[in-house]
Amino acid sequence: MNTEVSDAPVLYAVQDGVARITMNRPRYHNAQNSKMTYALDAAFRRAVDDDAVQVIVLAGNGKNFSAGHDIGTPERDVHESFERVHLWPDHVGKPGAEFQYVREQEVYLGMCRRWRDIPKPTIAMVQGACVSGGLMLAWVCDLIIAADDAWFADPVVQMGIPGVEYFAHAFELHPRIAKEFLFLGERMPAERAYQMGMVNKVVAREQLETETMAVAQRLTRQPRMGLMLTKQAINHVEDLRGKRTAMDAAFHMHHYAHAHNQLVSSNNLGGLDAKAMAASNKQKAGDA
Ligand code: ZN
Repeated sequence: MNTEVSDAPVLYAVQDGVARITMNRPRYHNAQNSKMTYALDAAFRRAVDDDAVQVIVLAGNGKNFSAGHDIGTPERDVHESFERVHLWPDHVGKPGAEFQYVREQEVYLGMCRRWRDIPKPTIAMVQGACVSGGLMLAWVCDLIIAADDAWFADPVVQMGIPGVEYFAHAFELHPRIAKEFLFLGERMPAERAYQMGMVNKVVAREQLETETMAVAQRLTRQPRMGLMLTKQAINHVEDLRGKRTAMDAAFHMHHYAHAHNQLVSSNNLGGLDAKAMAASNKQKAGDA
């Protein structure tokens, strides 16, 4: 498998009909900055455009799948402009709540919806941490295969925010479990996520790649059009059940929370940075 430029934020390789898209900021637990978001989008587009690719696997390099959105690495790039893929204006230089609102329409809600509707089967291959923005990346995939060391959490309620931008919580989990997941912000181990129906399979960490690729290979033997139509049909059922409209409503509550935080603490994350969030996650893991 050929892997391109190793310091790129996202790696891309194709083998036997399977494109493997790998988040590549292991030093920062694959925290997602905008450079990574646009690189992910470019990689997904490349996989869609290549007829030789029948299945897409999304992976994270290193110990963890994804620590979520980049809220504090030296390469955080929220104030940079990028070549946008939706027809939302550039967020840079916009006053008040507009900056955050138009930025997140593009890079979070818009991108995730775009990736969720990719007309080829997608599989998230998850190990270690899958937190907040990381959940969004796993959730947009059709199947999730988790290592036994994987854990899932969305601890943003402590920032006063009702969950991440791609608000699929109550579709991925029973509403009562989704409330527990968000209210407490605790780690949900892979095994419980499997019991709740949020992941398809839990395998030993050392088997993760082999097992994921075996499922991907089985999918390459199914007819392309059959998979495309099946995916559309099920996504349509989810939307008829209100996924899209629920997400629109929650997105606006999310932005009310960002604006409220800005008013009361002059910080849209309620003054909590990556360090504070990591410390509190560790504390919660210790309590559990
Ligand atoms: Zn946000």
